[in-house]
Amino acid sequence: MEAVGRSLTDAVRKMLRMPNVDERAIKELVKDLQRTLLQADVNVELVLQLSKSVEERSIKEKLPPGINRREHVVKVLYEEMAKFVGQDPAKVELQPGTFRKIMLVGIQGTGKTTSSVKLARFFAKRGLRVGLVCADTYRPGAYDQLLQLATKAEIPVYGEPGKKKPEDIAKHGLEHFRKENSDLVIIDTAGRHRNEKDLMDEMKRIASAVKPDEIVLAIDATIGQQAIYQAKAFHEATPIGSVLLTKMDGSAKGGGALSAVVATGSKVKFIGTGERVEDLELFVPTGFAGRLLDDTGVVVTPGIGYGQQGEGYVRLSLTTPDEAIDEGLRRLAAWRSEAARA
Ligand code: GDP
Repeated sequence: MEAVGRSLTDAVRKMLRMPNVDERAIKELVKDLQRTLLQADVNVELVLQLSKSVEERSIKEKLPPGINRREHVVKVLYEEMAKFVGQDPAKVELQPGTFRKIMLVGIQGTGKTTSSVKLARFFAKRGLRVGLVCADTYRPGAYDQLLQLATKAEIPVYGEPGKKKPEDIAKHGLEHFRKENSDLVIIDTAGRHRNEKDLMDEMKRIASAVKPDEIVLAIDATIGQQAIYQAKAFHEATPIGSVLLTKMDGSAKGGGALSAVVATGSKVKFIGTGERVEDLELFVPTGFAGRLLDDTGVVVTPGIGYGQQGEGYVRLSLTTPDEAIDEGLRRLAAWRSEAARA
């Protein structure tokens, strides 16, 4: 996704540098935007929709007092991008002292087991007592893998290696962690079976045994637009579901996966951004859109404007004259070369 951020930012900077932001400049920006998103495997229809709204709003909307076209275009781009990756952040409401259950499902190889530990660590860091249950009886070594990752993250694990009934293990795991006064139990499930139907049946059995408060589907972002099929089926099957997109780091197709999932109406709550257990982020659409645009310098915050991000974060206000942008870019370049020397 960094590549997307970079080329988007390049496109915005190109526009900012134009002496006059007129219809032609906006159309050029929109073309760059389209190219970038298509390269990120975003669905063509979605790209057209997005570019149409960016273009129309940028050209037609009346400028608020004190705002010039240039600033307005960046704001529009930011807002439309935020809409595109999911308007509102999903809610994560977990309180200490209330026993909660999350069941994690997904295809093998997605990064599900790693993600279960990431999630556990995420909530443990926020003061909850978290336990993990290994309910994957299909893959040999599943328990050991979970135990190994979880031990590093200092999260307790319950499992019954060698036993065959995942729904029983899951139930026993809940009993175990209830006695331990845990606040949250995360159940890792199998990602592979003899056939898909068996896997689905097993998921249903586990779900009806543990009655999860939430089912989280892990989807591998490297599959790009294909994510739509998994997300769709899941969204229709479970009203208490959310999506965790794994491997958003380094995948050229992350944009495709993300926009595809959002288009199904599924909530993306978390994104995995690396192999380490700390590489998990709560997904905040507006922050994500802002970051795509600030990767190489231009920072856009709603109602605030452009700025430069470096060691000393400098924010330039929307009412700042255009020279301020150049000044900001100059400071960024200076900071960069200083950082390169250090
Ligand atoms: P599972 O079969 O779905 O349980 O997948 P695993 O948790 O065993 O992960 C499969 C591989 O994906 C491992 O090599 C993980 O380190 C890797 N992985 C998991 N999440 C991420 C992520 O967010 N980014 C990257 N780059 N790799 C990941």
